Amino acid sequence: MARYMEAQCRLCRREGMKLYLKGDRCYSGKCAVDRKGYAPGMHRQSRKKVSEYGTQLREKQKTRRIYGVLEKQFRNYFEKAERQRGITGENLLRLLERRLDNVVYRLGLGSSRVEARQLVRHGHFTVNGRKVNIPSYLTRVGDIIEVREKSKESPRIKELMERAAEKTQPPWLEYDPEPARGRVIALPARDQIDVPVQEHLIVELYSR
Ligand code: SF4
Repeated sequence: MARYMEAQCRLCRREGMKLYLKGDRCYSGKCAVDRKGYAPGMHRQSRKKVSEYGTQLREKQKTRRIYGVLEKQFRNYFEKAERQRGITGENLLRLLERRLDNVVYRLGLGSSRVEARQLVRHGHFTVNGRKVNIPSYLTRVGDIIEVREKSKESPRIKELMERAAEKTQPPWLEYDPEPARGRVIALPARDQIDVPVQEHLIVELYSR
């Protein structure tokens, strides 16, 4: 576990920015990016000029890491985004935002996407009344995401429910603290997705 957590900080350092993969730790003085902001295994002064391809590649890697998606799956999202109407880059981000683990995180029921993914895998949530333990489950407008009744006994889930009750959810989600129930009320607009990503660079990369 310790090694896995260390690896997450290495991903942030590799991207040269905080990706907020570890929840509370990311906001503390222990954050590795705050402590040593240069890439792992690389001296601060030895960074070379990055090519156009390198910039596009890094943007894609960063986005993958933020959402915790593997290469193949990310490519599938891109292909799906391309087939949809509208701007491909925005479609891509919208698909990533609709993942159940991300929705749980956005509702405040996970301190990070990593924790939200783990809680989903452990079967703590229902979608429209049915248990769903697939983090990549794509939510739709109208879906109701709820903490399972027996999961509400868990001290960690209780703590997260209290936090979610205090949190301001993004405008495309609503949350009712009493039954610990969220609902997708719209698909997120680009300006409602607060990830530091220039999605056009990903489109350029895959259009090569
Ligand atoms: Fe580690 Fe979080 Fe800081 Fe990233 S933002 S380096 S995951 S503590």
